[in-house]
Amino acid sequence: MKNLLLLLFFSSLSYALLAQDMVLPLFPEGIPCASENEIQVKENNNGSQRRISQVQNPEIAVYLPAKSIANGTAVVICPGGGYTVLAWDWEGSWMAKWFNEMGVAAYVLKYRLPRWESEECNDKVALMDAQRAIRLVRSKATEWRLDPERIGIMGFSAGGHLASTASTHFDEGDAKASLAVDRVSSRPDFSILMYPVVSMDTTIAHMGSRRNIIGANPTAKMEAYYSNEKQITAETPPALLIHADNDRSVIPENSVAYYLGLRKHRIPAALHIFESGGHGFSFAEGRGDVEGWPGVAKDWLRGRGLLNKRLKALIVDGQNNHGNWPETTPIMKAQLEETGRFIVDVATTPAKGEPMGDFRPNFAAYDVVVSNYNGADWPEATQQDFERYVHGGGGFVSVHAADNAFAKWPAYNEMIGLGGWGNRTEKDGPYVYIDDEGEIIRDETAGKGGNHGKQHAFVVKTRDTEHPITRGMPKEWLHANDELYDMLRGPAKNMHILATAFADKAQGGTGRHEPMLMTVHYGLGRIFHTTLGHANESQLCVGFKTSFQRAAEWVATGAVTQPIPKEMPTADKVLIDEVK
Ligand code: ZN
Repeated sequence: MKNLLLLLFFSSLSYALLAQDMVLPLFPEGIPCASENEIQVKENNNGSQRRISQVQNPEIAVYLPAKSIANGTAVVICPGGGYTVLAWDWEGSWMAKWFNEMGVAAYVLKYRLPRWESEECNDKVALMDAQRAIRLVRSKATEWRLDPERIGIMGFSAGGHLASTASTHFDEGDAKASLAVDRVSSRPDFSILMYPVVSMDTTIAHMGSRRNIIGANPTAKMEAYYSNEKQITAETPPALLIHADNDRSVIPENSVAYYLGLRKHRIPAALHIFESGGHGFSFAEGRGDVEGWPGVAKDWLRGRGLLNKRLKALIVDGQNNHGNWPETTPIMKAQLEETGRFIVDVATTPAKGEPMGDFRPNFAAYDVVVSNYNGADWPEATQQDFERYVHGGGGFVSVHAADNAFAKWPAYNEMIGLGGWGNRTEKDGPYVYIDDEGEIIRDETAGKGGNHGKQHAFVVKTRDTEHPITRGMPKEWLHANDELYDMLRGPAKNMHILATAFADKAQGGTGRHEPMLMTVHYGLGRIFHTTLGHANESQLCVGFKTSFQRAAEWVATGAVTQPIPKEMPTADKVLIDEVK
């Protein structure tokens, strides 16, 4: 009986309706500026292309990607139609399915159309609906497995006006609001504007859209308010603009004006104008070059890192013989965040001399753990968690003095490959370095582990130019002032040397080529060990930063997608990152 009912239920729905996961009203608590409109839906092309007008109850149609490819990015789509109708499938549901194929969640916005609204409400309703849609999606980020900082908006033609209006008129939410949805921000994190109406300036405006939203005789204030190129601030999100040169309905000056407005505020933006394509081209199939725009959009999304799921990183600190650890953790956190690939948390142990108590971060929740820690032993349960985490495939990055830590913890010493100080001697493993012929030497000579001379700038030599971390890095780069660790010793099992530096005797070094950057495999886990990073300045070196950023991604995923920065240190020139 149940199956029969289900069958009846499905057969009564059209294919197009089945494709969406659900429909949610935007204002279940009561619609502001409510009207008596009766929705009209016109179908053509056997019902596959709906055009909707006189929307009374605004809503979003939810399209979620397959879980296996979902990347956490979401987009609210505003179909066009001159603020009179909604080209619901042509510029809505079809786009949603395309986004889903890229792993992006899509929400087609059924917004109220100014043409059918009362004079006191007609300029307000569409923006109200777009703002509420962004808030609603963001407020349900956990339920839909979205990244709340990656919720964008896309709009076509008049829908592009709405998307650019939402991108320039937003607020962070009202913390005191009674409804949870009103407490979150309505700011889109990016916008994709397709042949958008942007300006109400009569020299370039689409006059039909202008009349529908601000009337035939608007005040100057009203005209300026909805001329979005004039409303751009430093907070306006990055945008991709796509237009055709021969668009005679909404002229490309609209996109150009918005682009220049973004540029004035140094907001990243891309503008692509195809020579032909006209107006309202949707996917532009069979219309020539303009057919390539989905590729342009996909590359832009990829370039902004929006098609990769963000990785979760944890920096562990709290104790260190390097008193600047409270400064280096934020430096490394910012470096990871800057890539757009990481969400970063910090776990800080109790202070030196304090009982460790129940310090026990949930390592398993992270893709990479970065250690900026050199202090008292962690509780045994925490050590076991960490071993299980790395052995089971977790990523680990050991920075500078983290290789001084935990001398008596065998699994940790296997993970870092080589360590120093902490009474490390020949009992802990050989010295490992490279000789002048490039041979790796495992030296069993008795003696202490760990030494460095005076801080100085030194050349780091890339030994493996094909490894994902170092591929494209300069073969030699002058590292900023740092301690050059030498005489490290350890089990060095499954260890691979990516880069070395010559520890000059004149600087108090060994006269050997010492490992600076290494990878280690421990169980299924990947580890990156950098001996660099003593001082803030050492960590702000672009060479340190680039290798660290790339390594964090590699230990987390086994691959590196970040490009090498345009400007890198050279063999004779140190390059320090600007402090923002
Ligand atoms: Zn140091």
